[in-house]
Amino acid sequence: MEPMPNCCEEIARQLYQYIDRELSPEEQRQVQQHLDDCPPCQKWFRLEVDVLRLVGECGRRLEAPPTLIEKVRRLCASSQSDPHSS
Ligand SMILES: [Zn+2]
Repeated sequence: MEPMPNCCEEIARQLYQYIDRELSPEEQRQVQQHLDDCPPCQKWFRLEVDVLRLVGECGRRLEAPPTLIEKVRRLCASSQSDPHSS
């Protein structure tokens, strides 16, 4: 079972809610599971958590912009087709 770019797109949409703990326990688990299986998403997730932590101090809320979702999708797709990954 390998993660699909489509799946990554879903995760990108849910990630902010995941960080804010606004998802249902079932959805939280699905996001967590995807992050475990998908290093690119995991890396991105950690980056976003750091950013949101800073932003959160200002009391602002963010939503995943389409450009970010596209970026994650490409990141995941390229990592899957990378012949040099060991
Ligand atoms: Zn992913």
